[in-house]
Amino acid sequence: EHYNVDQKIQEFVAKIEARNPNEPEFLQAVKEVAVTVIPFIATRKEYNGMKLLERMAEAERIIIFRVPWIDDKGEIHVNRGYRIQMNSAIGPYKGGIRFHPTVNLSVLKFLAFEQVFKNSLTTLPMGGGKGGADFDPQGKSDMEIMRFCQAFMTEMCKHIGPETDVPAGDIGVGAKEIGYLFGQYKKIRNEFTGVLTGKGLAYGGSLIRPEATGYGVVYFCEQMLKTKGESIEGKTFAVSGFGNVAWGVVKKVNELGGKVLTISGPDGYIYDKDGISGEKVDYMLQMRASGNNRAEDYVNQFPGAEFFAGRRPWEVKCDVAIPAATQNELHLEDAEKLVANGVMCVTEAANMPSTLDAINYFLDNKVLFSPGKASNAGGVATSGLEMTQNSIRLNWTSEEVDARLKEIMIGIHKACRDFGKEEDGYVNYVKGANIAGFVKVAEAMLAQGVV
Ligand code: GLU
Repeated sequence: EHYNVDQKIQEFVAKIEARNPNEPEFLQAVKEVAVTVIPFIATRKEYNGMKLLERMAEAERIIIFRVPWIDDKGEIHVNRGYRIQMNSAIGPYKGGIRFHPTVNLSVLKFLAFEQVFKNSLTTLPMGGGKGGADFDPQGKSDMEIMRFCQAFMTEMCKHIGPETDVPAGDIGVGAKEIGYLFGQYKKIRNEFTGVLTGKGLAYGGSLIRPEATGYGVVYFCEQMLKTKGESIEGKTFAVSGFGNVAWGVVKKVNELGGKVLTISGPDGYIYDKDGISGEKVDYMLQMRASGNNRAEDYVNQFPGAEFFAGRRPWEVKCDVAIPAATQNELHLEDAEKLVANGVMCVTEAANMPSTLDAINYFLDNKVLFSPGKASNAGGVATSGLEMTQNSIRLNWTSEEVDARLKEIMIGIHKACRDFGKEEDGYVNYVKGANIAGFVKVAEAMLAQGVV
């Protein structure tokens, strides 16, 4: 029996690899799901032979397009834009747009694939998608960013819509970019709709959306700790990243009485023994608004902190680690250091920040570990709540949105436990998230026939 399941996993992964050569990130995301979901499929007669996972690993549609734009000096640049429409079984495609030089087909396919499971976990009716461009917003002027967003939307607007595909932000795309993208969509289509989420409050955005991913991560972490009779209060946190997600995490950890020791940029990390709180959290927001993500500058502002060039914060002793920067930022050697230093809980805030080796190390050592697709789902969940508010043409209070967000995160945590609990009582959140996310999409796909 076991041999058969293992063989099935191997055959499946080999097939996906052959069909998607030179796409390491996409293959990594598929592998992680295959290892946990194929054994589950084997236990369900009605799923057998339906090729559900194989269908899920093939995008319904991929749009790749030219994005030409003119810089402030009058020079023409050409970037490549993408929108991956991965799965619409349970709702319109939904997922962010990433502007970063590392964007390519493999990265966006992994993100779109994970988004399908993540969105399913939220229990809201959202399919999965992702988009972006290999454009680097660092060092670009406001007008250059605006022209780029307009050029990007000039093509993308033909493929999206409030009932079809609803993009949002991701790395390099925040409230400012969403505003420019929305303006161009409205101008071309002559429609004022909820076609994007993460909008400004003045034109249909939701309260709490900017904080939502980080808040959701901390709510999820709170639930994980609770299973051990622990809480956020008095715990030390190592956080990576400097962006929107890290900011929300740091804000909420402080609110709940935890102490954040680190944040990081592409240049290295800072260690602040006094904790990153108060005006230091506001400073993170200012840095983000100014488009600067250098961690080193923090030390000039707050001299009590230390800067470690070219290093990651996982060498710091902490109770909880929250990787909130980007994919594959936490390797096996980092996992080993964290475990050696007695880490109690690792709650992923970025998408796929841990390598497969690192994940397996955490699981083997029975560390509380949650995959991003579960613990960072609060961002897209709140996007779903923004869509609801747009549809009913009402705005909810921040208390209402926050309460719903918290309830959703508690629900995701429970779903992970229900599907991820192992014989010895240890909860494998990776397995739990993948199976729980899979089931809803699988049921919808089965009901809708071979499509
Ligand atoms: N980019 C975010 C994510 O990875 C949010 C997507 C959305 O709000 O649609 O889930």
